Amino acid sequence: MPVKINSTGGDFMKFNTSLLHSNGSSSKGATITPIYQVSAFAHESAEKLEKVFNNKASGYAYSRIGNPSVDAFEQRMSVLEGGIGAVACASGMAAVTMSLLNILSAGDEIIAGSGLFGGTIDLFRDLEPFGITARYAGTVTAETVEPLINSKTKAVFTELIGNPKLDIVDIKKVAEVCHSHGLPLIIDSTTATPYLIRPFEYGADIVVHSTSKYINGGGNSISGVIIDSGNFNFAKAGYKGFEEYKKFGRSAYLAKLRGSIWRNTGACLSPFNAFMNSVGMETLGLRMERCCYNAQKLAEFFSNDSSIEVNYPGLPDNPYHELVQEQLKGMAGAILTIRTGSKERAFRLINNLKYALIATNIGDVRTLVIHPDSTIYTHGSKEARINAGVYEDTIRISVGIEDIEDLIADFGQAAERSK
Ligand SMILES: *Cc1c(COP(=O)(O)O)cnc(C)c1O
Repeated sequence: MPVKINSTGGDFMKFNTSLLHSNGSSSKGATITPIYQVSAFAHESAEKLEKVFNNKASGYAYSRIGNPSVDAFEQRMSVLEGGIGAVACASGMAAVTMSLLNILSAGDEIIAGSGLFGGTIDLFRDLEPFGITARYAGTVTAETVEPLINSKTKAVFTELIGNPKLDIVDIKKVAEVCHSHGLPLIIDSTTATPYLIRPFEYGADIVVHSTSKYINGGGNSISGVIIDSGNFNFAKAGYKGFEEYKKFGRSAYLAKLRGSIWRNTGACLSPFNAFMNSVGMETLGLRMERCCYNAQKLAEFFSNDSSIEVNYPGLPDNPYHELVQEQLKGMAGAILTIRTGSKERAFRLINNLKYALIATNIGDVRTLVIHPDSTIYTHGSKEARINAGVYEDTIRISVGIEDIEDLIADFGQAAERSK
């Protein structure tokens, strides 16, 4: 991988090396920061705890506020994305929610892509009673975002590779429009991962991940993370509540998050799940290389079947093919969707698969399939589903790291038997 990451030692490491060697030091020579599975940390005096509590001394007080295993995971994510710091959350949804509530108040608007993850669209509806409105731009481009900006707009939020629409955002262009209007660009980079792109290098201001997915990789820990580039000056732009965090300079966003909404809603990540992520993420590069390769091959296989319509940004006739080459180093991620002609055929195809698990997740080492229309999108209107690229006959495939020959044989026989 051409990505170079600045290690703590000052040398530049490539991606896979950095995954293993930029994780700081841990006590007693442990090769990974161990699981500090405790709620509270005891101190030798009342004075010491007073200092820790008031950020006057380093140390830990209570795991909702800080924990060494969680810290270690946050630092690794921050290094991977090239940020100034990170805050881990109980889930990807918690990360999306906290990233926005940290800067929004009643009366504010956000502009979002309509091909978003179903849970995020549901969340935006849940925020309406609190006076926060999402305006949808369809596919997020400089041209679709700009007309929606008004005096109430406080952020632009989008997924980099939409799940499940698989539309890809040209971050550089969208960031330019955002910044020319004094707005931050927040990117949900779950489906791309820092292996394919580091959005800060293209002008994004905040990155969030559902680390339940590719970062963890084994499908064993619900979790999320918010990473800040430190480049957007919320205090200067007059965002509410930032006055008292001004003194933290470039870290004001993270300091406010830690000091207020994240801490007080109890959105923290458990030390155990942080540890599982720290273990899982060490193979991120290897897994991504393999599952993107598999997805490309499987998409090419389906494109030769005239009874199936395949959507994968890595195919030459896909509208995002060029952007994949420019922005994602030629790799289009590991999710594809297919349309089978009818819901009945989609179900038959799914039920005939031997290896793919029928499950609502992505980014697992195992291949997973789901029929989004009857599951993750049941809350959305017909229009919202179509905007998200979800039709009655759509199957989403999250491609794993199995041998591609087995995957092609399995999907081939299931497609045939579903006719
Ligand atoms: C899964 C997912 C989320 C939500 O994450 P959870 O960890 O399930 O809460 C958010 N955004 C995207 C793109 C996702 O795929």
